Order: sequence, then structure tokens, then C-alpha cells
Amino acid sequence: MSYSSAWEYIHKKGPQTTWAKELWRPIQPPSQSLLRWQAALDRLPTLQRLFSRQLIQNTTCLLCSTGSENVEHLFLLCSFSAYIWEKEVSWEAPKEGWLKLNSDGSRSDDRFSYGVLVRDSSSFCFEALSTRVWADSINLLELKGLVEGMQLCHSLRASRVWLESDSTTAIAWIHGRGIIPWRAFRDLRTFSTLSNSLLEWKATHVYREGNQVADHLAAFQSAMGYQIHEPPDFWPDLLKLLMKDKDGKVTTRISK
Ligand SMILES: [Zn+2]
Repeated sequence: MSYSSAWEYIHKKGPQTTWAKELWRPIQPPSQSLLRWQAALDRLPTLQRLFSRQLIQNTTCLLCSTGSENVEHLFLLCSFSAYIWEKEVSWEAPKEGWLKLNSDGSRSDDRFSYGVLVRDSSSFCFEALSTRVWADSINLLELKGLVEGMQLCHSLRASRVWLESDSTTAIAWIHGRGIIPWRAFRDLRTFSTLSNSLLEWKATHVYREGNQVADHLAAFQSAMGYQIHEPPDFWPDLLKLLMKDKDGKVTTRISK
């Protein structure tokens, strides 16, 4: 027997699973991989398994006291776990004296577009913009949306601006963080000039669910170029989304 055949004899390979690659990713902490592996094979010491070995008497879930605790209940059905997976997201109006800018980039096939809108503390939307542009990455597009929004705020003589985008990368770039590609420099210089003329500004990340109006505007554009929309031209779907934000309606986001 050779070394390699001895090795193969000891380390018998089991059947390949489709989910193995997803489970043992290098970026994932081993403890998490192990937990998910045990869950996938139904080997976690759940109350039902302990019961089947006659180690305990009762399998009622300790978190919700309704279902019987097995893997499916623990990760999917239990009301307590559902609470952890779900996050409630809503749009928040700015404080008085501030303008809030929401921006979103959208890409479908070779079509890049972004949507921008500016609202005040009473959730009134002054101006909305949808633009189809040439860009070669979604992050550059998201940045362009923020810069364009800053121009809009500048023309409205804003002194305090709160920017919100669902792109963590674009938000990092305008704060001078992350790996900034040279193609972003020109837009960032414009951004810096515009932001320096303000008394105060801040930029935060929002989940897609809290950025629905900008998302709608980005998808609206079909022809090349800029389209500025003012309140009298707002269409029913746009008005509906604006009203939803004004009322602080919550959208439930399911974490992945
Ligand atoms: Zn439960």
C-alpha cells in the first residue's frame, strides 16, 4: 500500500453536497460554519433531539413557549428568531433648518441611471431628478447621484444637508475612506467644494427599503439626459411613495 492510497483509505470522501462551499467560506468564523453544518445535518442538541435520547421531558421552545424546539423551529418558525431576522426600516425627515437628500443609482443591462430628491423637515419635496448617464460602475453612479443632489441643494441655498444613500461605498468615498478609484476624483472634488460652502452636512447609509422614492426615480428614466420634476408634475406612484415616507410607514426588511 502506498502513502497516497493509505491516506485515501483513512480519509474516505463522503458525497459532495451543493451547500458545502457556501458553508465553509474562509471569511466566515469557524464557529459559525460549525453551527450551520450541525444545523444542516440536524445534529444540533435541540430539545427535540435531547428528548429523543430521553435526556429531558419537555420539548417546548424556551424562547416563545409555543412550538416544539427543533432546528426548523429555532431558525425559521420561532417568533423570537423572526424578530432577529427582520428589521423595520423607514424614512426619517430631517430636523428643522436641514434639507435631506436621498439618492439612488440603478442599473439594468447597459442602462445606468440615478434618482435624486430633496425634502425639508416637513417632508415636502422641492425637486426630484431622474437622469440617465454613462458610467462604468454602480458605485461611481451612486457617487454621481450624491454630487448631483449636492448641486441641487446648493441651488436651493441650503445651509445644512443630510445625504442618504444605500451605497456604503459611495458614502465611504465622500468621507475620504476606502479605496477610491481615480475616476471618482473629479466628482469628489466637486463634492468637496459644494460641501465646504455648507454650515453642516452629514451622510448616512440607509437600506433600500428606506430609500424607495429615490429608487423609483432612478428606474423612471428612459431617455438619455436629465429630467427635473417639480411638485405640479409629480405622478401618482411618486406621490404615493412620498406620502408613505411622510407618514413614517415602516417596511420590513428580511436580513440575509
Ligand atoms: Zn420558539
